[in-house]
Amino acid sequence: MLDKEIKHFITEERKRQEDNIELIASENYVSNDILEAVGSILTNKYAEGYPSRRYYGGCVNVDEIENLARERCKQLFNVKYVNVQPHSGSTANMAAYRALLNKGDKVLSMSLDQGGHLTHGHQLSFSGQDYEFYSYHLTKEGFIDYDEVRRLAIEIKPRLILAGASAYPRMIDFAKFKEISDEIGAFFMVDMAHIAGLVATGLHPSPIPYADIVTSTTHKTLRGPRGGIIMTNNYQIYKKINSVVFPGIQGGPLMHVIAGKAICFKEALEPSFKEYAQNIVNNCHRLADELIQRGYKLITGGTDNHLLLVDIFSSRGLSGKEAETLLDRVGITVNKNSIPFDTLPPMISSGLRMGTAAITSRGFNEADMVEIAECIDLAFKYKDDDTMLDKIHDRVLKLTRSHPLWY
Ligand SMILES: *Cc1c(COP(=O)(O)O)cnc(C)c1O
Repeated sequence: MLDKEIKHFITEERKRQEDNIELIASENYVSNDILEAVGSILTNKYAEGYPSRRYYGGCVNVDEIENLARERCKQLFNVKYVNVQPHSGSTANMAAYRALLNKGDKVLSMSLDQGGHLTHGHQLSFSGQDYEFYSYHLTKEGFIDYDEVRRLAIEIKPRLILAGASAYPRMIDFAKFKEISDEIGAFFMVDMAHIAGLVATGLHPSPIPYADIVTSTTHKTLRGPRGGIIMTNNYQIYKKINSVVFPGIQGGPLMHVIAGKAICFKEALEPSFKEYAQNIVNNCHRLADELIQRGYKLITGGTDNHLLLVDIFSSRGLSGKEAETLLDRVGITVNKNSIPFDTLPPMISSGLRMGTAAITSRGFNEADMVEIAECIDLAFKYKDDDTMLDKIHDRVLKLTRSHPLWY
């Protein structure tokens, strides 16, 4: 690379990704094939429109790529129609709302400070500005309160009920949501951005049979390139989605990323991906158990999926923000997260979110989870002892060096 400044920071970032234990639940490491596709000459091509209906010439190859991406995605999730063009999960959600709603329509979604995503109605997001969002909540144990969902649905009469979250450690009962939606004649949409890899492998029930629209990212548990997808079994809704994505809210699709998505779907169809997804869940269970054994309080008391939420404030007296900084010091990357009924503001918060998708891609196993839990626990124990923190950092480096990245 001729640009020395950017090259420097890419090299440094590679080193950071190599040396740290990545527990951010929304991140992952892509395969070499996906990296090659995303860094390919496909980035040069304009292809506004859809396969065989483009606004530009020379789309013969990218048409094949987009068709492959669609077909593989349909097979993976057992769905009739898919749009693979959204640049991100947020854009996919914007398109989904526009396909189903008019400005000002009411939507019922999970409370943002209890696990919902920004695009599920935050004031500073287009979602909260264009539509009238109402929140359902969690029980004090941290589970979705379906009785409240139903009560609010009947009271508010939203046009859309939305399920899906960024920090929910348990299974979501899509059948129950669908039943409530049908009871009041609302659309039902699922944003499965976090759990897509588990849904693809049957480790989380699929929302496809229940939802009018399912959106997802491709870069979290699905282990693909950064991007979004939108799926439906309804042809009328599909037509709407297509025209909303282009020309509604996007211009030319990112064909290099769509090629990466196609590879991602193919990889996720392999038996080895099922094994991978099972290992994510096993590792997460093990990490949860090891933390609980060391006296940490987990929201809902455990996990069903790829992530867990620690109430670090009541476990160790540190805020999520302080805990995040402390673990960073020993090479463990996590993010602070609000917990249900948090008494601290979101930028400080009482919780830590940890996920096992990225480290499982590197081959971390259950024995490694014991070592990670031990390092985390020691960091809190010796938080004011620099010599000890250096020693813990060495243990972290030993772990990451034993599972090198492949780039
Ligand atoms: C990550 C996430 C998104 C947004 O994805 P981006 O690609 O960052 O825009 C949307 N919804 C949920 C539930 C998410 O977790």
